[in-house]
Amino acid sequence: MGQTARRVKVLLPLPLAGAYDYLLPEGLDAETGAFVRVPLGNRVINGVIWGPGDEGGVAAEKLKEIEAVLPVPSLPEANRSMVDWMAGYYLCAPGAALRMMMSVPAALEPPPTKTAYRGIDASPPGDIKLTSARRRVLEVAGDGFARSARALGEEAGVTTGVIKALASKGALETVAIPDLGRFEAPDPSSSGPDLSGEQEDAANGILAKIAADDFSVSVLDGVTGSGKTEVYFEAIAAVLKAGQQVLVLLPEISLSSQWLSRFNARFGAMPAEWHSDLSPPGRRRTWRAVAEGRVRVLVGARSALHLPFSNLGLIVVDEEHEPAFKQEDGVAYNARDVAIVRAHKGGIPIILCSATPSLETVLNVAEGRYESFLLQNRHGAAVLPSTEIIDITKDKPGRQKWVSPVLRDALVETLKAGEQSLLFLNRRGYAPLTLCRTCGHRIACPNCSAWLVEHRFTGRLQCHHCGYAARKPQSCPECGDTDSFAACGPGVERLQEEVSQFLPDARVELVTSDTIHSPAEAAAFVSRMQNNEVDLIIGTQIIAKGFHFPNLTLVGVVDADLGLAGGDLRAAERTFQLMQQVSGRAGRGEQPGRVFLQTANPATRVIQALSKGDRDGFVEAELHERQLAVAPPYGRLAALIISSHDEGIADNLAAAFGRQAPRSDGLLILGPAPAPISLLRGRFRRRLLLRAERGVSVQKVLTDWLSRINIPSNARVQVDVDPYSFL
Ligand code: ADP
Ligand code: ZN
Repeated sequence: MGQTARRVKVLLPLPLAGAYDYLLPEGLDAETGAFVRVPLGNRVINGVIWGPGDEGGVAAEKLKEIEAVLPVPSLPEANRSMVDWMAGYYLCAPGAALRMMMSVPAALEPPPTKTAYRGIDASPPGDIKLTSARRRVLEVAGDGFARSARALGEEAGVTTGVIKALASKGALETVAIPDLGRFEAPDPSSSGPDLSGEQEDAANGILAKIAADDFSVSVLDGVTGSGKTEVYFEAIAAVLKAGQQVLVLLPEISLSSQWLSRFNARFGAMPAEWHSDLSPPGRRRTWRAVAEGRVRVLVGARSALHLPFSNLGLIVVDEEHEPAFKQEDGVAYNARDVAIVRAHKGGIPIILCSATPSLETVLNVAEGRYESFLLQNRHGAAVLPSTEIIDITKDKPGRQKWVSPVLRDALVETLKAGEQSLLFLNRRGYAPLTLCRTCGHRIACPNCSAWLVEHRFTGRLQCHHCGYAARKPQSCPECGDTDSFAACGPGVERLQEEVSQFLPDARVELVTSDTIHSPAEAAAFVSRMQNNEVDLIIGTQIIAKGFHFPNLTLVGVVDADLGLAGGDLRAAERTFQLMQQVSGRAGRGEQPGRVFLQTANPATRVIQALSKGDRDGFVEAELHERQLAVAPPYGRLAALIISSHDEGIADNLAAAFGRQAPRSDGLLILGPAPAPISLLRGRFRRRLLLRAERGVSVQKVLTDWLSRINIPSNARVQVDVDPYSFL
């Protein structure tokens, strides 16, 4: 071992307690943040140098040496602080947070090469017949640049076959070039549309934040269709002009073809994308291009937040209130909140966009931590839709029907007028429950405490929690009676059946995660809408946000009470947001829109507020209630979910947590109690909920609590700080 070997800490992307010391041998040069390959037990693994080692720790002779420094830019300081922050705040292993940043191991290796073609110095071999296509290729390739067959083919206007043939005859030279991918730079110089007065005020306010070149949170709070996107495009242009990168987080990136086309129209290039539908080579190229600064604007789902941006200048979180930003599995974190931390660590501005900001954000604005910019009118001639409440206890849909006569008439009228409608029901499948009429038996999931949902298109009963699926049985497993099953309640498939009775000629399209599986399918659906090939959409929440269909003038919400049923902390808030969002799809063009909300509880606060368009009144009343309840955003919550395949073990461990529960002023512990989904994927689940006043360090309380209890290997304890789901 050389004299000058340096002791460093290396954090590995594994759920371990912390970083381990390694020796950086003489001759290897690496800074903090460098990606390195190290031995661990009998394998080798990639990690990141986290800082100087612990000189007083393990004897240097016992330390293992770093094997290699990987040929990729170091993990930026802001990312490293984000890992430490997540570990401290969400009480996850730092390696678990780091793993999210190292999700593409192949990106750390030298990029693979691909074959490229360029012209030869000599004139082409004499025996080659020079067709005009071949001549064009040689002309383009003559500039000496090596191009992929595809790029060369595009430029010369020929198929790749022509190029390969020329190469095989020796008229083109082949070379191996690194496969880095093509990331065109968006052009910020073209000016966008003329902004309205409101838009311009908001844009100027936000541009001032960008010019300040420091951390700030701007809330772009504008009604649906007010042109928030155009406003933040101005901010993106400014950051691009300054030579920095931009990250845009969207809740459903795979449904965002319209957003991508708008971006392309404005900036003359597509942004890079980051979502689960990327191919492995696409992920590798994008990850590396972000690290090397070749990606200028990246739009993605929450995981995009963990990419190693080398020169990030702005983050935009669109639809900041969306529960989709909350990750429930693995490290439970809220990407909106972590994005704010990332902006803070990087000293850059962040924009939160919404037509219905979360109460957390509303309070942060009220207390002066965030600055809000308002857009109160729809763009151009468009006006906000009118909202009508349908009391289905009076305007009854009829037996085994779900569309009330008033809504039915409106759908018929809209079809006659050649306009489009949307029926919204947040339930996939045909019926949420299948019941035996003879004995009352309900068909449940064998792995979860949940009913199986009938899907008629696939002819199966499905569990929406674990994915279990089975054929519908011929006879009741309980009483053996045949043909005794009844479908209870509606799903979108059943609505389609109902609609076909009164709109037999309408072109109806179901839009759910069962019918749209990829960005390409979403884009195809969008173009069918834009070409007026669809009269009526029946959809779940995936249709609620972002889409801009100018000819869609009617929105009918089949069951506005659905989200209120569970009654959790945010049920009313979420219902308000979702209803506003889905209502916001109506009347975005020249024709005004109409919204009908079917409810059995027209007097509830949320329904009343929706009917009057009284967002401020609703928010104020909700906040007041939360304050009285010491609930977020006035209080803090953390959940412990204890689970095991063995019910006794889950119960015993939950009881131990209950006995050891911290007791102090400003703290309240609820539980242990069986979770509402007390069996999930075969695991028995128990919950405890900690509620604390804002000044309490929930992390400290939780750490102490967890340290007092031995967790057996056949049980699991999930910590969920700032929980969104209480199931
Ligand atoms: P939001 O995101 O607030 O719901 P969008 O940004 O989608 O609203 O804007 C709604 C529609 O209005 C889009 O088709 C958009 O292109 C158009 N629009 C918004 N602002 C302008 C503007 N200043 N000039 C022209 N068109 C605009
Ligand atoms: Zn299940």
